[in-house]
Amino acid sequence: MALLELKNLHIALEDGTEIVKGVDLAVNPNEVHAIMGPNGSGKSTLAYALMGHPAYEITEGEVVFDGRNLVEMGADERAQAGLFLAFQYPHAIPGVTVTSFLRSAINAIRKARAGGIDDPIPIPEFRKELLAQMDRLKVSRDLASRYLNDGFSGGEKKRIEILQMAMLKPRIAILDETDSGLDIDALQTVARGVKEVVGPALGALVITHYQRILNYIEPDFVHVFVGGRIVEEGGPELAHKLEAEGYEAFTPVAVGEGES
Ligand code: ADP
Ligand code: MG
Repeated sequence: MALLELKNLHIALEDGTEIVKGVDLAVNPNEVHAIMGPNGSGKSTLAYALMGHPAYEITEGEVVFDGRNLVEMGADERAQAGLFLAFQYPHAIPGVTVTSFLRSAINAIRKARAGGIDDPIPIPEFRKELLAQMDRLKVSRDLASRYLNDGFSGGEKKRIEILQMAMLKPRIAILDETDSGLDIDALQTVARGVKEVVGPALGALVITHYQRILNYIEPDFVHVFVGGRIVEEGGPELAHKLEAEGYEAFTPVAVGEGES
């Protein structure tokens, strides 16, 4: 069984509207999967539901993470078990610096892994790792002492998301439109960061509207996602086909629904 497995997954909004309509997907460490789809197809809904956001309800099917039923785990348990989500729109947390946020997050994970007993990372070890990762990901050192995402540019937010990923060392990372709003320099840095952390210990699900980021992170598998369903699957060549032809060929006959 794969590390993360979705089986016939259906997800509805609080008002009962079904957005994700039966998705099967298996992600393992060392694999990069791209989910590509037009706006409004339900990509973020899928990502949020996997992280346990209360606004999205799994109504049918199952999600198994490392042999456990993910649906029964709380959002913090999911993170502690090694699931990571980089948000499309990261929230600011005024009053909490990047450094203290990262240290708390690492300590929460360490505590869970130690069976609920506090096991804080020694400060010198934390600082050394943080500085090394910031240099590697070209995150300006000034950002460490600033409040998380408070007044950060789009590129800074995305770099900080990748920094979190590098520091927390998840086993599955879901990146929701990490490429949106980035200039080419920021995009390359973010993509390089992702590429560096994907490996024997980490698998990634890269969710994107545009093929652009996939020029820098070659996916092993591409899944075309339209209308809440995976409508086609293939290798990296499928991303290029979409770049050239768009989603038109995969869009169901118009049923009067506007795209958001
Ligand atoms: P994508 O990420 O592919 O652009 P989304 O998952 O954000 O798509 O949205 C899919 C559909 O679900 C859209 O029609 C969107 O308006 C709706 N939707 C998503 N989240 C909510 C929410 N919290 N409340 C109301 N509608 C939502
Ligand atoms: Mg989205």
